[in-house]
Parts: sequence; C-alpha cells; structure tokens
Amino acid sequence: MILVLTPNTRPDSSEYKQLLAFLANLSGISTRVHNEVGVEQTLTEVYLIGNTKALSMEDMSRLPCVDRVVRISEEYRVLGRHKNDDRSTHFDYNGVRFGQDNLNVFAGLCAVDTIDHVEMMMKVLQEHGQVCTRMGAYKPRTSPYSFQGHGKACLPYVFDLAGKYGMKVIAMEITHESHVDEINEALHQTGSPTGVMLQIGTRNTQNFELLKIVGRQQEFPVLLKRGFGITLDESLNAAEYLASEGNRRVIFGLRGMKTNMGDPHRNFVDFAQVPAVHRLTRMPVCIDPSHSVGARTCSPEGMLDVMHVTAQGVIAGANMVLVDFHPVPNKALVDGPQALLVKELPLFLEDIRIAREAYEKRMALIMQYQQE
Ligand code: PEP
Ligand code: MN
Repeated sequence: MILVLTPNTRPDSSEYKQLLAFLANLSGISTRVHNEVGVEQTLTEVYLIGNTKALSMEDMSRLPCVDRVVRISEEYRVLGRHKNDDRSTHFDYNGVRFGQDNLNVFAGLCAVDTIDHVEMMMKVLQEHGQVCTRMGAYKPRTSPYSFQGHGKACLPYVFDLAGKYGMKVIAMEITHESHVDEINEALHQTGSPTGVMLQIGTRNTQNFELLKIVGRQQEFPVLLKRGFGITLDESLNAAEYLASEGNRRVIFGLRGMKTNMGDPHRNFVDFAQVPAVHRLTRMPVCIDPSHSVGARTCSPEGMLDVMHVTAQGVIAGANMVLVDFHPVPNKALVDGPQALLVKELPLFLEDIRIAREAYEKRMALIMQYQQE
C-alpha cells in the first residue's frame, strides 16, 4: 500500500510525526519513505510493506498528511501501474521530458571511435533539430580482443562537443559502478555542458549489485535494457531494483530477444510489448531497432528493416528510439553493418513522425469509441 501525502508535507511537522508514529505501531508492517523533489513541490510517498490486506483504504486516507491511498495490486511496487493509480508517468531531465505520452529520438554512435566522427554526428543531429544522442564509451563485447570503447578518455571531448551542438542528453552504457564516477568527474571538468542517461545493457539487466548502486544515485536517469534471454516480468523486476533504491527516473528498453526464431534478424523483435509495459508500469518505453535487427537489410521497396521495426514500435506508442547511426559506417569500430547513414537521418525522422501521428490518431479513435 502507498500513502501519497499532501504535497510539501514537512518532515518536521507534528502531523507527519504523528503519522509515522501511528504507522510504526502497526504490527507486521514496515515503512519506506520516498521523497520526489520537484521544481515546484516535494511529493512524499510512504510505502507500507508487509501484510497490508487488513488495512482499510478509508481508515488510512483519514490519517494526518495523507492525500490519497493506492493499494498495490501487482508487482513492481514503485514503478508499477496500480488500480486507481494516478501517479505521474513522466519526468524531466536537463530540459527534456521523458514520459509515456511523448517521444524522443536518440540517434548516434554505437561506440565513440574518433573525435571527428563524434563531431560529424552531432553536427547533423543539430541540423535536424535533435537534442539527444547515443555515444558509447564503455562497450561490453563478446570477445575480449574486440575494441572495448575508449572509456573515460573520450568523455571530455564528447561532452564538450555535446555542448557545442546543443545535445542535452547522451545515452551512454555503463558496465561498472566506477563508470558513474568517471562520467560525473568528466561532466564536472567540462562544466556540465550536457546531461547523461546511464544505460544498463542487456548483458547486465540482472546484475543486481550494479542495479542497486545505479539506483542509489539520483543524479542521472537510467535506461534499462530488457535482458535478451529472460521474461518481461524478470526484466521489469530488474527495473524495480533501480526504483526500490531510490531512482525512479527509469526508462525501459526493448531490444529484441536472442533466439534463432528471430532469424534473419539479429534478435527477435519484441516491440509488440510496448503497450504491455505501458499497462504494467509507469515507465516510458524505449525501442532499439538497431540491436534488434542488426543489419541493413531492406524490404523489396527499399525500406530498411530497421525503419520498419522502428515504425512498428512507434505506432504502438514507444516513447524513445535508440538507434545507431555512423558518418562512415565502414570505419566504425562497433556495429558498423547495422548503422544508418547520416544522409538517412531526415528520412528516418520523417518516417517516425508519420508513425507517431498514426499512433496519436489511433489513440484518439479509441477514446472516441469508448465515449460512444
Ligand atoms: C547498445 O545499445 O550499444 C547495446 C550494446 O545494446 P544491448 O545492451 O541491448 O545489446
Ligand atoms: Mn552496438
């Protein structure tokens, strides 16, 4: 059960102390307090953990400071969408809104290779009105002999260039807790010209100790990729690890499942689950068409499979598209064969616009139908 308190409840107020004292006396129930500090107000939620079945919603809503009560009907206590749950489904980070009701595109390099490629990429993004990008510095690779990413060495120039080209958020995978410190340090050194969304890759979806550490920091939002060989429920629970430690600014990423049933694609595309994640949780949902498809194959008309699956995810309501581009794909050190070309960026963005418009029309249609 969650007690949502009246906005701006002060922790030193006598009503709040009275509430906590009352809750402390309930047998078999422990509490966990979460504060969400916003620009305009601070929201406090008190999670009641244990046997809450015997508690009446009505009684609890009469307690001091309590604005409303949500009974947790499903798993994913913090990030889940529960019955009569009108908690928000969006957050803002560095001036960019991330929600279940909007869409952001993160086109960019799978892996940072040269400073020139970073600059060429960001320049094109800016020319097409983009403020978000992806830039991998720490790359988890199948072979220990493959390029592992430039790591912290590339961060200063990536951040400087992001500032120069108006990039507000960079999605960047981390594979170890020390990477969070390195990113923080590089941002500090460069005067924080941009923001970073920490990406937990599919190989680390169930790295619970990493999740706990990343969940404890509140500085950066997190993109958690679905594990490539586990159920949706297991991956949503992994997201809940982040939130249970305090970081609720989590985006859930679909990136395809590893099975040869997906052939000829690199992974079996799972974007049909975008609406399922919306139904089960309050997280914005990202799709990664590049790592799902893994190649530049086309339909007979010449439309890339990467673009087809992007449109399929967007028309189902996806909120973020994470996609590999490269100015010179044959020089890319990671995933060149699946990268889109920078000259394809306007085409890609227009195709997304069409799919998003279709999604919005579909939602208007269903709302009209329900009113009839
Ligand atoms: C990536 O986005 O660069 C990546 C490695 O993705 P995934 O973890 O989904 O394989
Ligand atoms: Mn990749």
